[in-house]
Amino acid sequence: AADAGLDYVKSLITSHENFPIPGVLFQDAFPIFRDPVAMDIVLNRMLGLITRTSPKIDAIVGLDARGFLLGPLLSTHLHCSFVPIRKQGKLPGKCESVTYEKEYGTDVFEIQMDALKPGDKVVFVDDLIATGGTLRAATELVRKVGAEPLLATCIVGLPALEGATKVGIPVHALVPLP
Ligand code: AMP
Repeated sequence: AADAGLDYVKSLITSHENFPIPGVLFQDAFPIFRDPVAMDIVLNRMLGLITRTSPKIDAIVGLDARGFLLGPLLSTHLHCSFVPIRKQGKLPGKCESVTYEKEYGTDVFEIQMDALKPGDKVVFVDDLIATGGTLRAATELVRKVGAEPLLATCIVGLPALEGATKVGIPVHALVPLP
């Protein structure tokens, strides 16, 4: 169905060949952040999805780094916590960690242990889902501290990679790109 709001958001995304490494088509969402009308559309769509999924959530968990720009805007509207997941060594205090396999080598993600309580209902946010590996690792980390992953929401999805099917919770991308 036609959706003028999301068509406008989509029109702002720019594609960059061979960035940051050869063979990658990088989809840049920062032009959306330059445009308050587009940001309003993105935030309202995400808030609608979240409130339809669960009347009450305890935390928005944002993924490093562009998830940090959307997360606090959502959590402020929802009157819930914002909690970051970061690469190992960036967060102070006691952290839980998860190792995840990337195409070449591994990465470690961390979350502060006092950031979530057992049973907390959590929604993830990031700018883009590609293979789904990042969101998959994020759900594992949140489960390790006893919290409950409900949903993930991103601005951009790359459906050809079938990343959404690998995360284990519903993933909603507002703008699918080929
Ligand atoms: P993945 O784990 O493969 O789903 O990758 C998702 C993460 O990598 C997100 O944090 C994205 O910001 C970033 N990313 C992966 N592929 C792209 C792409 N083609 N364009 C922009 N960002 C990407």
